[in-house]
Amino acid sequence: EYYAAAPAQWDAPMVSRPRRPAPSRARRKPRRSPLPFLALLLGLALFAGGFLMGRVEAAGNRAAQAAAGAGAASGGPVRILAVPGAVHSGTEDAPASGEAGGTSDSRDDWNLILVNGDHPLPQDFQIPEFTQLINGHAIDKRAYPALQRMMDDCRAAGLEPTICSSYRSWEKQEELFQRKVQSCLPQAGSLEEAEEQAAVWVARPGTSEHQAGLAVDIVDKSYQLLDERQEDTAVQKWLMEHCAEYGFILRYPTEKSDLTGVGYEPWHYRYVGEQAAGDIMSRGLCLEEYLENA
Ligand SMILES: [Zn+2]
Repeated sequence: EYYAAAPAQWDAPMVSRPRRPAPSRARRKPRRSPLPFLALLLGLALFAGGFLMGRVEAAGNRAAQAAAGAGAASGGPVRILAVPGAVHSGTEDAPASGEAGGTSDSRDDWNLILVNGDHPLPQDFQIPEFTQLINGHAIDKRAYPALQRMMDDCRAAGLEPTICSSYRSWEKQEELFQRKVQSCLPQAGSLEEAEEQAAVWVARPGTSEHQAGLAVDIVDKSYQLLDERQEDTAVQKWLMEHCAEYGFILRYPTEKSDLTGVGYEPWHYRYVGEQAAGDIMSRGLCLEEYLENA
């Protein structure tokens, strides 16, 4: 949809990274050698580093929160490893409301919301709660645990996935769209024509899945351009094979553009829950086709 700017360094929340592992281990095995002293020095250095990083991350979180215009307004670091019982975790499909233990998906489920050119989000659309990610990214809290697992497992496979886009506010989408309109204007005959052309590349405000907080653009750290060659990267090969296991789908597959209204995007992943994702990916559907029968 748009080119990622600077390479992102990290995407997952800080909670997955232990802060000071070294000092405590050193302290458990005291020895008569310079090691304890060195460990103490190292510990102090790590502590200072951790403190600084904490500040940087906190600043990043504040920025993300400001950008999101919402979010969990807890003062300190975001700690969302355990998912409260009231919130559906990403590892299970949310049962349809009023349907005890129901397994059938309905297009009314939060995870199956359809957002495209024909189905814009209502202007008052609200995401109940965000999880802030590193680098100013954010995602619907209900989809976060699954995203974290997917990223962790992808890394465990020796790969370097990088989130380059996530939740976008209405204002941000408007800004991206208007920027594209301005760049189309010189060639277009009218403003309307420029908007038509721009909409091919950047979703009109309200019609981007990123505004629903359930989509992430993930690239390979070694190749961060958003073009078709992204599909050849090791990260995309892994994600396309495994994303459904985590409840994500490749939202804009090749040869479905006439149905999705969006060109092939081998980097845009959308959370729909494991049940729908398994169905969609194994049957080679797009979300529009799946929801026709849901
Ligand atoms: Zn995207």
